[in-house]
Amino acid sequence: MSLRKSILLTAFVFLAPLYGCADNKISENTDIAVSRDVFAMDTYMNMKVYGSDAEAALDEAEKRIYDLENELSATSETSDIWAINNADGKDVAVCADTSVLIKKAVEMGDITHGALDITVFPILKEWGFTTGEYHIPDETRLEALLSKVDYRSINIDGNNVSIPEDAKIDLGALAKGYTGDEIVDIFREHGIGSAIISLGGNVQAIGSKPDGSGWKVAVRDPYYPEKDMCVVEIKDRAVITSGNYERFFIGDNGNKYWHIIDPDDGRPADNGFVSVTVIGSNGLICDCLSTALFVAGRDKYDAITSEFNGYDYIFVTDDEKIIYTEGLADTFQNISSMTAEVITDD
Ligand code: AMP
Ligand code: MG
Repeated sequence: MSLRKSILLTAFVFLAPLYGCADNKISENTDIAVSRDVFAMDTYMNMKVYGSDAEAALDEAEKRIYDLENELSATSETSDIWAINNADGKDVAVCADTSVLIKKAVEMGDITHGALDITVFPILKEWGFTTGEYHIPDETRLEALLSKVDYRSINIDGNNVSIPEDAKIDLGALAKGYTGDEIVDIFREHGIGSAIISLGGNVQAIGSKPDGSGWKVAVRDPYYPEKDMCVVEIKDRAVITSGNYERFFIGDNGNKYWHIIDPDDGRPADNGFVSVTVIGSNGLICDCLSTALFVAGRDKYDAITSEFNGYDYIFVTDDEKIIYTEGLADTFQNISSMTAEVITDD
């Protein structure tokens, strides 16, 4: 068992009796939160729920998280994604979640002009981002691998999916956004009107806090990832961040290399942003956009965001500035040493 997992297990053992106490009270008082920690998709997750049916809602959500992990993980040999990646170009019958997500990824590939491309997996592997055995690939190797990268080569026919031999896909850019949406649906079915879900860098809120005020969500400072840089207030929205501090290594040459790949050259995307946060009602779209806008960068983000109504954005530039959209202006609190400015049309 890894150290991380064993620490988490220890935490569960000690906290379990406390949750037991909370459970007994919650059925009488909906102002008391029931909280649950889950470790899945390589991420510490926490769900905090207010409502008389909170415990049953959390049980169902937890099961759904593990089911989605089993279906969608690119590295688990029993997943749909593994089956597609190892089918030598043949059709694979997948479950409904997998086909919904692959269809959405292809659609978002088109909308983002290829910035989101779920076929970059062989390149991620080559850099070592799937195993932690990092190295800087040479140019010829990258070029050979890039010839297999093209989301338009994915075939979807109902629930049958196939990709060309040697191509490989991974849904890491969007699976957690979808998982958040699914948890939100489960909670609503249980009559929950107030909850906050945290899936690593993804936060999703149902309603407001029980006192009617918005949920305050902090966004990490990419330059000092142990600190927060700003706080925004949300109701019924997701706040989803992609950053160059989440998974990275420092090469022998002293340069930093991170896990979001530019499908144009197979290298970590370095187009002017070090962090991109997307805020909106649909977690899946926020998650696709956070990764895609990180890749598109300062010159191209505008063309993509203009396709979406009702979404807000916080960008951190590689010259240490925060820029954010007008819709956040009322609640945006800058707690970093960077300047923060609202993006204007001109
Ligand atoms: P996120 O944290 O949502 O930005 O997702 C990052 C993950 O998406 C990476 O760990 C990879 O699994 C995957 N990924 C990296 N680059 C891309 C890309 N250009 N298009 C689609 N998925 C990507
Ligand atoms: Mg994403």
